[in-house]
Amino acid sequence: MARYHGPVCRLCRREGLKLFLKGSRCFTDKCAIERRNYPPGQHGLGRSKQSPYAQQLREKQRAKRIYGLLERQFRRYFEWAEREKGITGENLLRFLERRLDNVVYRLGFASSRKEARQMVRHGHVQVNGRKVNIPSYLVKVGQAVQLRPESKLQERVAENLAAGRGQVPAWLELAPDARRGVVRALPLREDIQLPVQEQLIVELYSK
Ligand code: SF4
Repeated sequence: MARYHGPVCRLCRREGLKLFLKGSRCFTDKCAIERRNYPPGQHGLGRSKQSPYAQQLREKQRAKRIYGLLERQFRRYFEWAEREKGITGENLLRFLERRLDNVVYRLGFASSRKEARQMVRHGHVQVNGRKVNIPSYLVKVGQAVQLRPESKLQERVAENLAAGRGQVPAWLELAPDARRGVVRALPLREDIQLPVQEQLIVELYSK
């Protein structure tokens, strides 16, 4: 699956907030947002008020970048969200949260979603005891997500868990010693702590 391979700190500067794309560096004063919190580029400091369309676009870009997705993948989640019962914007965020790479990150096994994606891709993660190496796999209620017992990443995951950079959301239950988490429920909007106004994304795609 195609990925963005450009400089990621630029993405945070474009959005004007920390997207936590670089793991532990994001928590140091080397973070580009701490040093240069203005949009990148020649006119970065000179940009003024945004049109409604630009705001909608920004929200969509922000959500895409947080989850590390490209347009086609993101659009597919939106189409699924539209077909689901309920509020489309919330459905969209729920689909994004249920991705296996995001769950590994939310459980604290990885310091960033990028690292989590690599763990999954390289076969270090099990779902209900079976190896799953598809980062976009959508977890279901009752499933257990676990670091494979024979994985060489035990130490790395222990370090990440000890750093405890984020709170494990209420819809997941973590057993840190077993490097295991269980999906207790599907996430509600209030469980998804994201600086994103999903309604603007819905308006953008509904034009
Ligand atoms: Fe964003 Fe992390 Fe880079 Fe800071 S260090 S700008 S939070 S990716």
